[in-house]
Amino acid sequence: MKVALRDDDTSFFTTPAAVESVYRDIWQRMPVCLAVVPFVIGYRNPGIPEEHWHTGESWPLDRNAELTAALREWIAARRVSVALHGYTHQDFSNGYEFQAAPDPERRVADGRSFLQRILGAPIGIFVPPHNALSKRGLAAVSAAGLNLLGSFLSFRPSMRPWEWRTLPNFWRVRRFRAATGRRRHDRFVYPYVLRYRTHAEFGCHSLVPGTTADDLIRGFDESRSLGGDFCVATHYWEIDQTLHGVLHRFLDYASRFSDVRFVAAEELFI
Ligand SMILES: [Zn+2]
Repeated sequence: MKVALRDDDTSFFTTPAAVESVYRDIWQRMPVCLAVVPFVIGYRNPGIPEEHWHTGESWPLDRNAELTAALREWIAARRVSVALHGYTHQDFSNGYEFQAAPDPERRVADGRSFLQRILGAPIGIFVPPHNALSKRGLAAVSAAGLNLLGSFLSFRPSMRPWEWRTLPNFWRVRRFRAATGRRRHDRFVYPYVLRYRTHAEFGCHSLVPGTTADDLIRGFDESRSLGGDFCVATHYWEIDQTLHGVLHRFLDYASRFSDVRFVAAEELFI
């Protein structure tokens, strides 16, 4: 069983110290997949100074030289891998970035090549801002051949670009829901990779304020009993001592199983 960890929202506004303080005792145990925003525009987020929330100004990641150097160092030490987390992460009046931006195709291509150039590492995963993707947003990610690490994405064929795998994958998820006694609107994470023509998708379990170690352990146990894999998704800017303790308790628990391998998120798709 593979277990991975994803952390969202690293951007120009992130200090290396903020990431280090959360992960320095975690990335000794497993690599962390940092979902990075290449050209962040300030938005309401405790991890961003308030004076930048409404300016509309875009900040390229490499204008934070200290962070760029730290990322390169962490990547070289295999402490982190990097995923693409939108382009600006801005919220539009009619939706989140990858629901409403007029040019998702350009954002995926430019964001990815920019990060690859300044970090010197390949980018193989896309994480949608707010876990929100329109049909066109998903088509753009798929066309770029990026795998998708999400939480609670819809598998309904009407919400997705069409290809022959759309329907069989939808039925797979529905069968899983029925077999595990879930009802139509129950939220759940499908524990296997779903493969499409040019990309694959995997869902994560959220670690947010209020999540307990037992919540994660329950999800992990179910996935393990079904031969699935497991990914935790969180944000460094909201990891306080309580959540840090939750993450450690969960990792301690998962470490007890000899069939568990802690992997970089990219390996979930192999
Ligand atoms: Zn985000």
